[in-house]
Amino acid sequence: MKTIIVTGAGGFIGSHLAERLKSEGNYVIGIDKKFPEFKHTTDICDEFYLIDLRIQLDVENFKVNKQIDQIYHLAADMGGMGYVFGKDAQILQNSGRIDLNIFDWAYKNNVKDILFTSSACRYPEHLQEGDDIKLREDMAYPAAPQDGYGWEKIFGELLCKFYHENHNMNTHVVAFHNIYGENGTWCGGKEKSPAAICRKVAEANDGDSIEIWGDGTQLRSYCHVTDAIEGMIRTMQTNHHTAINIGTDRSISIKDFTQLIIDISGKDLSIKYVDGAIGVKSRNSDNTLSKKLLNWKPVIELEEGMTILYKWILEQVKNKQND
Ligand code: NAD
Repeated sequence: MKTIIVTGAGGFIGSHLAERLKSEGNYVIGIDKKFPEFKHTTDICDEFYLIDLRIQLDVENFKVNKQIDQIYHLAADMGGMGYVFGKDAQILQNSGRIDLNIFDWAYKNNVKDILFTSSACRYPEHLQEGDDIKLREDMAYPAAPQDGYGWEKIFGELLCKFYHENHNMNTHVVAFHNIYGENGTWCGGKEKSPAAICRKVAEANDGDSIEIWGDGTQLRSYCHVTDAIEGMIRTMQTNHHTAINIGTDRSISIKDFTQLIIDISGKDLSIKYVDGAIGVKSRNSDNTLSKKLLNWKPVIELEEGMTILYKWILEQVKNKQND
């Protein structure tokens, strides 16, 4: 049994991770600025603290009466393209401060293992303008991400590198490629494409058309949260200090992805392409390193995972309509 802090435990991936770690007998301390929306904190954490992790003094004053073995650091100012677009300064400010405070706290409290959640947005924009490109971890440098969200992830990765080199901490980095699943934000502006498209489909009636940003040719790969968590836990057990891709290497166009969700719904809907924040043209994960180092590969097929997500979002939409 380990004593583990999960920052961002009130969020999508953090709440799933905390629940899994607790179910395996670990003592889990969750921290977030908000409570989890879809779970009771007591079901997923042994202790849960509401802290704004940007505030240095509040983080410094945070005390626990146990030695912390591991920190999974997920808290970040985060959302889909519609949220992060044009918020570069805000995201660098918010997430940068959170990272600085958490790494400092970990160092001063003798925490040896800390895992940082980076993103496929770490990769240079110019590599993602062509056809289906599988991004290998070392392609991230020289760094040239598309936006402030990606640069902030590079900054967090550098913190991992320097805290390892200067303070001998066992730092770890996962680079997530579009993680999806139930119990995540599905409306309100922060939702990412899987949840957003499911919601649009769930709200539509036969004969309607649903709006999709861009021309539908953008390529992405999607990984179910259960697989992502397995990848994170295995990464924490390594002595590898630079990024490991956690995603699937099956890319799909947004057009085909949307049609997949429409087919799952059984509805008769058409797709209308409109202007919107679309991000890079093509992005896929090269999983050579994760296979080699972690003996990990995603096992949930997109059709299966999206069927589960669609059902969950349909339920949320119905509940909201009945409110
Ligand atoms: P999320 O938004 O659901 O979770 C992030 C959590 O951080 C939220 O609960 C939020 O309240 C918390 N947070 C934000 N600012 C805070 C603050 N000042 N103090 C305390 N808590 C704060 O996002 P997620 O999808 O669960 O992502 C978790 C991590 O994984 C993030 O670091 C994100 O950048 C990274 N990531 C996610 C994906 C994905 O597809 N979901 C892809 C790449 C990287």
